Amino acid sequence: MLNDNIKTQASCADDFDSEAITVETARQKILAKITPITATETLTLHQSLNRVLAQDVISTTNVPGHTNSAMDGYALSGDDLPDVTPRQYSVIGTAFAGRPFKDPCHAGQCVRIMTGAAMPAGTDTVVMQEHSETVSDTQIRISAGHITGQNVRQAGEDISKDSVVLTKGHYIQAADLGVIASIGIGEINAYRLPRIAFFSTGDELRSVGDTLGTGDIYDSNRYSLHGMLSQLNVEIIDLGIVKDKLEDMRQAFKAASSNADLVITTGGVSVGEADYVKDVVEEMGKIYIWKIAMKPGRPITFGQLGNATFFGLPGNPVSVMTTFYQFVIPAIQRLSGQADCTPLTINVICNSDLRKRAGRFECQRGILSLNEAGQLTVCATGKQGSGILTSMSRANCLILLDEVCDGIEAGDSVTVQPFSTYL
Ligand code: AMP
Ligand code: MG
Repeated sequence: MLNDNIKTQASCADDFDSEAITVETARQKILAKITPITATETLTLHQSLNRVLAQDVISTTNVPGHTNSAMDGYALSGDDLPDVTPRQYSVIGTAFAGRPFKDPCHAGQCVRIMTGAAMPAGTDTVVMQEHSETVSDTQIRISAGHITGQNVRQAGEDISKDSVVLTKGHYIQAADLGVIASIGIGEINAYRLPRIAFFSTGDELRSVGDTLGTGDIYDSNRYSLHGMLSQLNVEIIDLGIVKDKLEDMRQAFKAASSNADLVITTGGVSVGEADYVKDVVEEMGKIYIWKIAMKPGRPITFGQLGNATFFGLPGNPVSVMTTFYQFVIPAIQRLSGQADCTPLTINVICNSDLRKRAGRFECQRGILSLNEAGQLTVCATGKQGSGILTSMSRANCLILLDEVCDGIEAGDSVTVQPFSTYL
């Protein structure tokens, strides 16, 4: 449900809020509102890692280009293989990778062949060197039991000419660079990187290096945000700390939205007297979502500022990270032109009892590890308060507990979202 009446008071303490939408509904609404970047740029392969393809990559060649040997051994015709008793063959030459043997091979003959060498005319089968017996410099013996076509890589068996190798919207990984190089292509078309501006809000915030007065705290959100953004390959615009003052906020939002595709703020989205973020965004743009049934994470605001998409994340350091994982990452992926924006989740056995009340989706902090049987299991990090940032630092995953879950007993299966593919 889109909320038009954003002045309605939210209570962060309640587990149930009839106006709050579910995490999944929110994610779908967010993705539906985002217009992917269409501007493209040409990049060399070395520049292409972690970029999104703006065009299908189509092969103009077969890979491998020639049928070739998968082993060091002897190439011959499968029709000429021994049936029952061993047979002797004349070795008429040698084929190397990159140095083919040009003459045809006839019955009773074979060609010494190295891995990767093109199969000589008249041959379709390779007998491994270890399965042959040397009789003399020019004669070998082979026993029965071989199969026509063995140890041969067919032309085009990896990639066939004219096939689509990678599709538009693909997020380019290391193996893709090798695949693209294998078809002789040195440049690709990628979408330009999204520009992401962010700032922290709060009169109490000081930068690292400043002296803290009574009630002041260091701004940690800008650092965790910078870290999470850096892992996504985006252009980062750090706009620092903005005071809880209407005019300062207006200036900051103006600067951010005129330079960025996405603007992220932290703090100032509750219903406190100094929480101006929502008011200013309403005045300068539009708010689409502001209540999501999620803990920690409420309140969070999603909207539009001119051409920029806007996320007003909560101030609590843990909430910043949990909402970033649930909503901002998929939004950035969509913005980047990526075809798939589904977060990786896996089901594992939970080794801890987890307290939870039904009504809200919860992201608890978990530690995934391998048990003695080599299976992944998860345990909770301990205290789960939204101000306990060390729980996030100890964690390597989020334990995702859906709205209906009313607690987990050790031994139950839970869904987790790993922070990376390393434990
Ligand atoms: P707010 O949403 O602005 O009311 O902030 C909620 C809580 O998060 C308050 O305790 C803030 O002091 C804290 N907080 C807000 N921004 C930051 C920040 N950038 N770094 C650390 N804590 C913050
Ligand atoms: Mg604040």
